[in-house]
Amino acid sequence: MILVIVLIIILIGIICLFFKPDFDIYSQHHVTTNKKIIALTFDDGPDPSITPKILDILKKHKIKATFFVVGKNARDYPDVLKRIYQEGHLVGNHSYNHNYQMFNFPSKILNDVEHTNEIIYQVIGQYPVFYRPPFGLRTFWGARILKKNNFKIITWDNMTNDYWNINPTKLYQKIISKVSRGGIIVLHDGSEGFSVKNRTNLVDDGLEDIIKYLKSKNFQFICLNEMFNMAGYQ
Ligand SMILES: [Zn+2]
Repeated sequence: MILVIVLIIILIGIICLFFKPDFDIYSQHHVTTNKKIIALTFDDGPDPSITPKILDILKKHKIKATFFVVGKNARDYPDVLKRIYQEGHLVGNHSYNHNYQMFNFPSKILNDVEHTNEIIYQVIGQYPVFYRPPFGLRTFWGARILKKNNFKIITWDNMTNDYWNINPTKLYQKIISKVSRGGIIVLHDGSEGFSVKNRTNLVDDGLEDIIKYLKSKNFQFICLNEMFNMAGYQ
């Protein structure tokens, strides 16, 4: 009986590790470097009202970011996706409909990611390499098959609950408290999972304050392909 309980505890422990974004299972959550480089990433878009505002802010500050787009949103808002790409940002894959993939067979996970890549290709003519699983949740078997098919799985080391539209000051403080060299920041330009539709606080002040702070500390904003020194598209 005790042995069974111990085994269950070990099993739960292993599964919980897969939930942690900083547990690198065929994935990476930052790079180790002395350089002041940082990657801004945006998840869950493209969104017709929020993404263009974020793009305006990035353009104003002359910085590039990585957008992990959801396949169904890319299908519904191709013009927004096209603009992301045309303005020099990197496009990544964030699954087709942002469902949990924890209990899916590896082949189903791969199909979902490749289907999303096909939708993205129809719009920008490129197949993304970078993939971020919904909620950052990975499994050993899912991550393994994606790596074998040349996808690069990226989580993060700096995220706060901006998806609940927390006030800009809180958003700013939480993000800057976790800034690191080689870090990966996640913000949300779309509404999936737990997130609310209204993301006004991010685009009102939060994002600009974060950018201004990082610039004042001489951080250089780079896309993930540059951060990992590899091609962003297949
Ligand atoms: Zn997401």
